[in-house]
Amino acid sequence: MISYFLQFLRLFFPKNCEACGKSLLKKEDFLCTQCLYDIPRTKFHETEENVLNRLFYGITKIKYSTAFYFFKKGSKFRVLIHKLKYNKQKELGIELGKMLGNEIKDSFFEEADIIIPVPLHPNKQRKRGYNQSDLISEGLSESFKKEYRKDILIRAAYTETQTKKTLEERRKNVKSAFKVVYPDEIKRKHVLLVDDVVTTGSTLASCANELLKVDGVTVSVAVLGYADH
Ligand SMILES: [Zn+2]
Repeated sequence: MISYFLQFLRLFFPKNCEACGKSLLKKEDFLCTQCLYDIPRTKFHETEENVLNRLFYGITKIKYSTAFYFFKKGSKFRVLIHKLKYNKQKELGIELGKMLGNEIKDSFFEEADIIIPVPLHPNKQRKRGYNQSDLISEGLSESFKKEYRKDILIRAAYTETQTKKTLEERRKNVKSAFKVVYPDEIKRKHVLLVDDVVTTGSTLASCANELLKVDGVTVSVAVLGYADH
């Protein structure tokens, strides 16, 4: 009955593909079949040496790193992360996280023990009402079948807005902004650090450096979008 009712509602309020805006068919979820096919997957999880991993050379030690897809200007898939961050479409974060998990399942990422999201600055989180990396981690945890904890790594010090700074200034600015609250919980574990988009990699590197201070920790990185530059 409910399904009939929903179908009836969809006649008047059809659900649209979150990427291209086309009306979705009954069997389609949040992306249409064409968009699912079109996602510019990076497949970074298939090779240990990739362009994303190279971002961290010399600034931190990351074991494996991957991004679900290429985050390009003008791409219809860029919109997804924008909606997640600025339009309060929290469900999108969970769905994309699940897709990321399905992508990296059965790869060397299986070595990871625990998923930890990159924390948002408290002021920003208060304003937004949520941390998009938490949502991605939640979905990832579901499909990848690994525990996720958002209470272990926190954002401590104040950091100014990053946009008008140079790369070098940004790196300095986020230095030591993060703090591991429960080091015993990650001792000798392989942590999978999660964020929405990677550009310079400086935020992820700062998080990783804090995590690496804990005895025997290994860090890998998984993000949704890799911004080419
Ligand atoms: Zn579509």
